[in-house]
Amino acid sequence: MHRVRLQEKLQFNSQINADTHCWEWQGQVSNSGHGRITIRDFSQATNQKVSAETASYLAFIGGLPEGMMVNQTCSNRLCINPEHLCIKKIPTL
Ligand SMILES: [Zn+2]
Repeated sequence: MHRVRLQEKLQFNSQINADTHCWEWQGQVSNSGHGRITIRDFSQATNQKVSAETASYLAFIGGLPEGMMVNQTCSNRLCINPEHLCIKKIPTL
């Protein structure tokens, strides 16, 4: 999906919390309590379900390095504010 279109979609589906400045996801939520969104991967020509915070990272910040996942510094699992996002290593089992 085009980055600007994805940014618009994410902003349309979230509400800014005036106290915490979190962008709280209003769309589909997965069992783990994270926002979920389907994005189009043009390089693979497929649709991919990703967490809303991952989509926000891809839309506002850029590519996600392999082996890394997106995490919220504010501990709000529904937050997609790019300023509240960081990346961490995917834990290995
Ligand atoms: Zn937040």
